[in-house]
Amino acid sequence: MYGTVEAMSQKYTGDLREITQYRAGNVEINIAKHSGYCWGVQRAYDQTVATAKTTEGPVYTYGPLIHNPQTIEELRNHYGVNYIQGPEDVDQGTVVVRTHGVPPEIQDLLRAKGVNVIDATCPYVRVTQNYAALLLKQKYHVVIIGDPKHAEVISILAYAKGEGTVIHSLEDIDKIPHNKRRLGVVVQSTLILEKVNKIVNALLARAQEVRVFNTICYVTTERQEDAEHIAQTNDHVLVIGGKESSNTKKLAIVAETHGARAMLIESESDIDFSKLANAKKIGILAGASTPNWLIDKCKDRLVEHFSAAPVGA
Ligand code: SF4
Repeated sequence: MYGTVEAMSQKYTGDLREITQYRAGNVEINIAKHSGYCWGVQRAYDQTVATAKTTEGPVYTYGPLIHNPQTIEELRNHYGVNYIQGPEDVDQGTVVVRTHGVPPEIQDLLRAKGVNVIDATCPYVRVTQNYAALLLKQKYHVVIIGDPKHAEVISILAYAKGEGTVIHSLEDIDKIPHNKRRLGVVVQSTLILEKVNKIVNALLARAQEVRVFNTICYVTTERQEDAEHIAQTNDHVLVIGGKESSNTKKLAIVAETHGARAMLIESESDIDFSKLANAKKIGILAGASTPNWLIDKCKDRLVEHFSAAPVGA
């Protein structure tokens, strides 16, 4: 199954930029090779737009489709797609399940109300949900390494049907019931491998058996590698993405860990040029839920500003 998903995703190259370097005045601007919507987000966005164009009646997404305010606004204004917070908010029409997925009971509840459900869960998240179900079937206590409040983790936990524990940090390991000696581990798609390694090592010390599925998404790995490279080769880094976006926040952490001064922005109007006064090389990173047009707008704003700046400024 994993192979099939990989084959599907390999066809997508929309997040690979052809031109990554620009020059404006004395400043070099370098955009990360992989930036913009990842495959899963593009797929969910396309499904939502296609549904809105072809379906009668109201179309909603279950929660904001992605953590990007501009995209949410575009869906509302251009396609009439709003989002709901829970099954109680809707009695008819169509609900698109976003990339993070939802617990299966929620889909059942919506269908029982007569609501049409379009499942745009990212196939990679779906694989993780399936691993959780498999581990449960094989009598493991399911451990999900991730943020317990994140929608993806909530959806995966539901597949453990009460036999799961979410571990966000080493301190959380004590939350696993002491009689659980066979642990089956899956990981939130956007986590940093080093953090996962530390938690898995600690789990090994307390369990008889630990089975681990590394479900960190390849997009996360690619972007974190890009973030390291961009941070090491630029003095300042702009990280473009929604303030609620998990992978955007993590890119900023990776950039700062590797020595760059990171500025988290949601749009070109958030760029604080006073902090870039001495910049010579500015890197640009973007989360998997940041549209390409927004990255270009931020780059254009930098080019405009530094091209207009007096030489030597
Ligand atoms: S980052 Fe990975 S898991 Fe998340 S939506 Fe994109 S492809 Fe899917």
